[in-house]
Amino acid sequence: MAPTQSRSQRKAAFLQAAGEMYERLEAWYDAHPAATFEAIEEELRQQRRELMGGALATLIVGRDSGYQPAAPPCPTCGQAMRFEGYRPWTVKGLEGDSVLERAYYSCPGCVGAAFSPLDQKLALRADHWSGGAARVATRLGLQAKSFDLAAAGFSDAVGRDISGDSVARLTEDWGRRVAEQRSAEAERANRPGRRGERLTQRRLPEVAPITTPANISTDGAMLLVREEGWKEVKIVAISEVRTQPASARQTAQPSRRDADALVTLSQHSYQAGLWDADTMALYQYAEGLRRGLDDCPKRSSVNDGALWIKRITDLNFPGVPQIVDWSHATEHRWAVANAVHGEHTAAAHQWVEPQLDRLWRGQVAQVVETLDQLDLQQPRWPDLVQEAPNYFRSNQDRMRYDSFRARGYPIGSGTVESAANTVVHHRLRRPGRGWTRNNGQAMLAGLSELHSGRFEHAWYHLALN
Ligand SMILES: [Zn+2]
Repeated sequence: MAPTQSRSQRKAAFLQAAGEMYERLEAWYDAHPAATFEAIEEELRQQRRELMGGALATLIVGRDSGYQPAAPPCPTCGQAMRFEGYRPWTVKGLEGDSVLERAYYSCPGCVGAAFSPLDQKLALRADHWSGGAARVATRLGLQAKSFDLAAAGFSDAVGRDISGDSVARLTEDWGRRVAEQRSAEAERANRPGRRGERLTQRRLPEVAPITTPANISTDGAMLLVREEGWKEVKIVAISEVRTQPASARQTAQPSRRDADALVTLSQHSYQAGLWDADTMALYQYAEGLRRGLDDCPKRSSVNDGALWIKRITDLNFPGVPQIVDWSHATEHRWAVANAVHGEHTAAAHQWVEPQLDRLWRGQVAQVVETLDQLDLQQPRWPDLVQEAPNYFRSNQDRMRYDSFRARGYPIGSGTVESAANTVVHHRLRRPGRGWTRNNGQAMLAGLSELHSGRFEHAWYHLALN
């Protein structure tokens, strides 16, 4: 029998179910007269999920079960399909679980070819979750520290159980789709120009384009990959640069920076993956296009001084000043001081402070000279110390802090370090054998969107494809 009904029949069915639900609530309260608001609310929520699950089925299938008087053609062979009657399909949703009795067709010619026009019209998912339930579970799967914690959060907030394994599947499947799309976009952004392609033609749609000065920071972070060990995740952060007067600074302790304008980075967006440097370059460029960096009035790039980062950033953003993160420069300086004068001794302090003052004023050549006199390339010193003279010598151009400061460039405040922490470490450090490469890549793609504030944008954009 066809499940479709008239509008007044549908309304009557709903009102009857609602009336019965209210009677059940009264009976429950009679049996639990001392119930707290919390207990009553929980009881009502379960009843509400049942009522709304049924209401959705009535509203949808009561109007249209997907039955078509002329059977639809088989998507494979094109011949008319055969109506097989009505079959139930359960959707596990945010409002409740619904059973849709919808028309079902099969092809007499093709084995296993079956089709429900209603499933297609409603864009139902094969895994029985509603799009909304899948979206909420996926967001939690990215945000929570583990899939089990995400599942507990989902069950509590939605009022329906979900397993940690289901959250993992939803989150990682979505991440894989994001990763595929980002990979295709990186390829499109980087392919050679075509004849007739105008320079103004956008290869990627802009998302939250930057109209202030912009900064590009790239770095590596470590991820434990199953059967491979610790592998480097490469990550780029693209940010707005905001400059406020020095008076806006709130510092407890006096520092070198006090007289300078307050330069802050915000509105970060990220791309992260288990990539080699050349692959990272493709994603770095694509993310730059997405943020409209080609139209930015003023750009800078603060990094840790690694050569691969300098190379790909020069390639993608030629002429953009590259700056060694001040904290990395000071870290190297302190390593030398501690090695030569003893860990955190007064002598180490006395040696390092004037060195840092010189560096701050842009006297890098003198700083290199001082290091050269120390004969640091000895096996007894740690790597950071042995490398120090070359580190400062090869990065001289990127340590002109006097000039960078005068021009209002950011000189670093751990932006990329915090990117590695928020995007990678916070979620992906876990005990045991780590992530499979495939799932790790999927999580990195999903986390990049989440922390770029683009989760919903990416969710609906993917859903349309
Ligand atoms: Zn067929």
